[in-house]
Amino acid sequence: MDFALTEEQEFFKKTITDTVDRMIVPKAREIDEKDEFPWELWREFSSLGYLGLRYPEEIGGMNADPVTAMIFYEQIARGSVGFAQSVIMNILMGTYFVFRFGSDAMKERCLYPAMKGEKVGTMCFTEDQSGSDLSATRTTVRKEGNEWVINGTKMWITNGPVADMATVLATTDLALGAKGLNFFLVEKGTPGFSAGQVLDKLGCRGTVTGELVFDNVRVPEENLLGKELNRGVEYLGEILDEVRVMTGAMALGIAQAAFDEGLEYARKRVAFGKPIGTYQLIRAKFADMATEMEASRLMIYYAAWRIREKLSSRKEAAMAKMYATETCCKVVDEVTRIWGANGFAHEYNPQRHFRDARFLLYGGGTHEIIRDLLGRMIIGKV
Ligand SMILES: Cc1cc2nc3c(=O)[nH]c(=O)nc-3n(C[C@H](O)[C@H](O)[C@H](O)COP(=O)(O)OP(=O)(O)OC[C@H]3O[C@@H](n4cnc5c(N)ncnc54)[C@H](O)[C@@H]3O)c2cc1C
Repeated sequence: MDFALTEEQEFFKKTITDTVDRMIVPKAREIDEKDEFPWELWREFSSLGYLGLRYPEEIGGMNADPVTAMIFYEQIARGSVGFAQSVIMNILMGTYFVFRFGSDAMKERCLYPAMKGEKVGTMCFTEDQSGSDLSATRTTVRKEGNEWVINGTKMWITNGPVADMATVLATTDLALGAKGLNFFLVEKGTPGFSAGQVLDKLGCRGTVTGELVFDNVRVPEENLLGKELNRGVEYLGEILDEVRVMTGAMALGIAQAAFDEGLEYARKRVAFGKPIGTYQLIRAKFADMATEMEASRLMIYYAAWRIREKLSSRKEAAMAKMYATETCCKVVDEVTRIWGANGFAHEYNPQRHFRDARFLLYGGGTHEIIRDLLGRMIIGKV
């Protein structure tokens, strides 16, 4: 067994930690309050090359392995989850299908600019009436000559209002359920493709989230992102574990930010003549939070290591996502308590972490769905 990061990973961790502290942390409050896509920061951050994190060096990427990628996801979420969500969408879900299945021309037009932040990507499954249950997808696609015609509306789409390109889930046949699903690339400017309602969210503010409308959108044959028709769910499985562990890593990042602020407060806030950190009940909170965050960290990096080693990782990824997110929700709750009334004030960060953490309960799969999956995997056929 080897629990140590490599020298390269340690260096990467230090670099991204410093970058987040310098570039993102000072702007986190403004991002949250304005709740607008932070273009200036986006451009500044994109220029550092991180948007090509997971792609090969030959095409301008960083070729980071899954363990290194988790270091990145954890750190950027520690700075601002709103910003992290937009960035990670470009790095992973919003570009993966173009990287994997796109034509050379499509990569030139969409992937390479997205890796430099010149284009913003997104991925859309969720609809008004379907989230966890992809088999209930109502966005349809039909073939007409050598074109695909897409109709439907997607909801809750990260980067949706500013997206230059979308990887869209659509069904060839409503009766086929999950077996009729496919991903298609739709680019901004395609007639019939538009952004609708922008959502006013509790947390993760600054990443803009909204509705995308596909009204008789026609795309060429090659925009089917898959080798064969109706294998969309199978292709999605290729990144599902990384998406789940990434969600856990983001949870850990938020938990760490909240924990550090809780610690600082407990050391300096005086009650009954002594810093509150000297009271046993407050110390117990830190003991529990630190223990559960350490367990989360081990689970996340272990699951990422399994992905890297191409070992089965569905169970470990699901467990890591769920445990780290539940821990995060507990930590942000405890930290707002430790901060007393100040934890309730918009002037300070704990309330932001408290709001942001909630998103991770849905992103990457709700915990009801994940528990159910784990239960089925563990019990097996009876
Ligand atoms: C900030 C934010 C950004 C998002 N970004 C994107 C995006 O970019 N692209 C995208 O496609 N989607 C996005 N989503 C949507 C997200 O993926 C969905 O919220 C998620 O899939 C859950 O779907 P739902 O909200 O429709 O809940 P539902 O699936 O309707 O579930 C409602 C409740 O029922 C429970 N439930 C459902 N089925 C079962 C079951 N079988 N057993 C027990 N309980 C069950 C769920 O756990 C949940 O508690 C985003 C959401 C948020 C909040």
